[in-house]
Amino acid sequence: MQFLIKPSDASAWISCIRRAWLDKHQPVASEPDAFSQLLSEQGLVHEAAMLTRLEKQYLVSKAVSVEHTQSLMREGVPAIYQARLIDERQGLVGYPDFLIRHDSGQYQPADAKLSLSEYKKSTQIQLGIYRRLLATKLPAMVFLGDGRTALLGDEIEPAVDEFIDGMRRLLDLPHPPAVRYSHSKCRICPHEPYCRPEFEAREDISLLYGIHGMAADHLAEAGIATISQLAASTVESIPDVPHLKGSKRKQRAILQAKAHVCDELFKLSEPVLPEGTWIHFDIEDNPLAPGCERHVYLWGFLLPPYARNDFDYVWTDIESSDYDGWIGFLQKLDRYRAQHSRIVLAHYSNHERATIRKYAERYDMLQHATVAWLLGDESPLFDIQKPVLDNLVLPLQGYGLKDICKHSKLVDFQWENAESGSQWSVVQFNRFRRETDLTEKQRLKTEIIGYNRDDVIATRKLEEWLRRLSG
Ligand code: SF4
Repeated sequence: MQFLIKPSDASAWISCIRRAWLDKHQPVASEPDAFSQLLSEQGLVHEAAMLTRLEKQYLVSKAVSVEHTQSLMREGVPAIYQARLIDERQGLVGYPDFLIRHDSGQYQPADAKLSLSEYKKSTQIQLGIYRRLLATKLPAMVFLGDGRTALLGDEIEPAVDEFIDGMRRLLDLPHPPAVRYSHSKCRICPHEPYCRPEFEAREDISLLYGIHGMAADHLAEAGIATISQLAASTVESIPDVPHLKGSKRKQRAILQAKAHVCDELFKLSEPVLPEGTWIHFDIEDNPLAPGCERHVYLWGFLLPPYARNDFDYVWTDIESSDYDGWIGFLQKLDRYRAQHSRIVLAHYSNHERATIRKYAERYDMLQHATVAWLLGDESPLFDIQKPVLDNLVLPLQGYGLKDICKHSKLVDFQWENAESGSQWSVVQFNRFRRETDLTEKQRLKTEIIGYNRDDVIATRKLEEWLRRLSG
């Protein structure tokens, strides 16, 4: 069967070539998750705003088919919305948001994208395919969410060639290509139910946390092809391979394999936790804020003695109150600091520290006394993921807070709302922003706050669990 290559195939191809093959040969119907739906809705809002803007400049005609697009182009209309382009000979099809007639009489493709950075390579390929379909040397345009327009010209051609050649070779394969497991990609992939049994049946080493696919390939060449074989290996019997060099990393890999086989944890050393008054801290932020700068809508804390009602927070309804939220956060910390000695502000992963730094830069407050304390040498911030990663090998494929806390043999803490998560929180917050019914708005806010409270209770439970382990 001859498959047409679409620009949207680029993101699957970049993420996993097996997914690109399966999408064509064995497509599965899957509902996009709520976060992807939100992204798509925001993209459509931006596209509609761009259409309104272009309509002030040009007479814009909406295309309804490939033939209609060709006819509008032959007529030389100034701008075409939702163009449909196909080139059977090249095996390409594409639907640019806009075609804009250049002074030369050629059409210039343009897409509305909220941001370029997150999807850079796939966006380049996508726009490059439009140029191929139009056989134009004019640069393609990307109308960005922050009002800027990016131009993509001949510099993207090598990436487009690589994609088209790679896709053609891939689609000619009679079977899906063998790849390694990737926890971050596979767990959100619609083909996971098809692929996972294969990975498990062959005890693929890449199922293990921290084992890079390239390391798994080299280990297989050295005769260590399964998790059981790795679990039975010694540091001395494992060769130095890319992403797995040195006795420490090899020892960890062996223990990770053993943890998987026995469903047990291994202690490398005793976790050491800092002394002081622990305050658990977690933020919720909106990466889809209209200004394209992340807006922290909730700064949450769990204070001693750590009961559910010891939760404290700063909330802002809207990005225009972003500064107020930040100042509210700093004021809370000043108050805690006055009330408690030697605060340990515990959070999971580096996100909270990085966000504080970004806010300090955003508001030019790096010299502010509270900020200097937070980010300085005597910082109270403590990433509680660190003692986990440094000291423990867990029977898990991911070391996220929920992976560790929800596991019945580990922390065994369950969130009140089983559906909740950081992307869930963003979706709920964006619903909250749009909601006009005050009762529903309050309900959404209560739900989000409840989720954040459970997050900080979870880090408290993790702290207690680590203390029991080292006791
Ligand atoms: S489940 Fe993983 S390996 Fe399979 S297609 Fe999806 S991303 Fe690729």
